[in-house]
Amino acid sequence: MIAIDGPAASGKSSTARAVAERLGFAHLDSGALYRGVTLVAIRHAVPGPLDPARVLREAETRGLQLQFDGRSYAVYLGGASADEAIRSPEVTARVSAVSAVPEIREWVTERLRRLARAGQSLVVDGRDIGTVVFPEAVLKIFLTASPRTRAGRRITQRGQAVDQALLDREAVDLAARDQADSARAVAPLRQAPDAIPLDGTDLSFEDQVARISALARERLGLD
Ligand code: C5P
Repeated sequence: MIAIDGPAASGKSSTARAVAERLGFAHLDSGALYRGVTLVAIRHAVPGPLDPARVLREAETRGLQLQFDGRSYAVYLGGASADEAIRSPEVTARVSAVSAVPEIREWVTERLRRLARAGQSLVVDGRDIGTVVFPEAVLKIFLTASPRTRAGRRITQRGQAVDQALLDREAVDLAARDQADSARAVAPLRQAPDAIPLDGTDLSFEDQVARISALARERLGLD
């Protein structure tokens, strides 16, 4: 088990996916499941204040699931891939509030642990993987990058041209999400004491993946 935590848009998921591929592990993006629950809350729960029991009941009955595609676990809802829907601006705007609710965190954490108990070797990325979900992970990485770098990457990922106004707006959105994720009472975004910090601001994606993979091979005794 390898845990990669860090703030929004630090490159955790793409890095975790590539590291998993190098090691022959499966990749599990925990944020995707929080996004899936948020999608259910938006689509299917009654309007008004968030009712976590109701949202989770809807998630169960409507078949919110993680399905393995041979490399990564992807979010399915009602038998169809929800990969695009969970990345919508509406979901992104609400996911921090939904994921701050203790009952929802328990539900997600239990599902992540259940997958791990199935025995597959995993690279898991998120906010509380090394601190709460899998404190026994053999390697914990806390991946960061400067706000400007993270904002630029997010804009490029969406296929938009990077300009100053867009960079400023994106950086504000990311900072707000990081603040909400770091300030919540339960399982806040925090570097585990035994995590290795890695600042990817000046690293190429390949270097970032190579460094983490090398650390993992060392810890796993694969060298
Ligand atoms: O990684 P991603 O940006 O897709 O995560 C979406 C949101 O899910 C985060 O902003 C955070 O609120 C929540 N999350 C969490 N704990 C995790 C993973 C994600 O609270 N382990």
